[in-house]
Amino acid sequence: MRFSRLRLNGFKSFVDPTDLIIQDGLTGVVGPNGCGKSNLLEALRWVMGENRPTAMRGGGMEDVIFAGAATRPARNFAEVSLVIDNAERLAPAAFNDSDNLEIVRRITRDVGSAYKVGVKDVRARDVQMLFADASTGAHSPALVRQGQIAELINSKPKARRRILEEAAGISGLYQRRHEAELKLKGSEQNLARVDDVIEQLA
Ligand code: ATP
Repeated sequence: MRFSRLRLNGFKSFVDPTDLIIQDGLTGVVGPNGCGKSNLLEALRWVMGENRPTAMRGGGMEDVIFAGAATRPARNFAEVSLVIDNAERLAPAAFNDSDNLEIVRRITRDVGSAYKVGVKDVRARDVQMLFADASTGAHSPALVRQGQIAELINSKPKARRRILEEAAGISGLYQRRHEAELKLKGSEQNLARVDDVIEQLA
């Protein structure tokens, strides 16, 4: 999966629409302290479905919206769009009909987040699964936060195993298993209720 463009609009310090064209090969982002380098990485994580405000260095999800500056009022929404090169048609079947796949996440104050893949409205889960199945996503070990290396060295074996599972692309299977288990539990409860009704009627 190759990212070809990241667009930010009202996301953190990127108040005006900003496009980053990601070319083949290695891309470096350089700039003075506080210019927004980490915000770019957070935008990438956010559009892939990150839902923990702490991972965005905020207290709540709406903290990603441009909060205003001396000369600019705060914005009411933030939007990030990520374009993926899908020339090899590796996207899930539901979205696999074009060479470029655009994933958009928008958060509006007091409304919350909405996602789109291409022109289709989708759920957060659909976007998270799309990236998890491609061995990437908001929790991908390829996205390294400041201080994360030290955390890794000190982490417990179970946490390290999770990193290997993410890299192997099987974390999406765990999510699906969890959902299947919840469905199974619901069905068992329904069956028990049916048994009760049959007993009462007998
Ligand atoms: P360093 O090199 O020091 O790690 P950096 O280039 O990674 O810095 P970031 O941490 O990405 O910089 O950006 C921090 C800047 O983003 C700060 O100036 C902060 O005020 C600004 N910022 C963060 N959230 C918002 C927001 N919601 N609205 C406006 N500005 C924001």
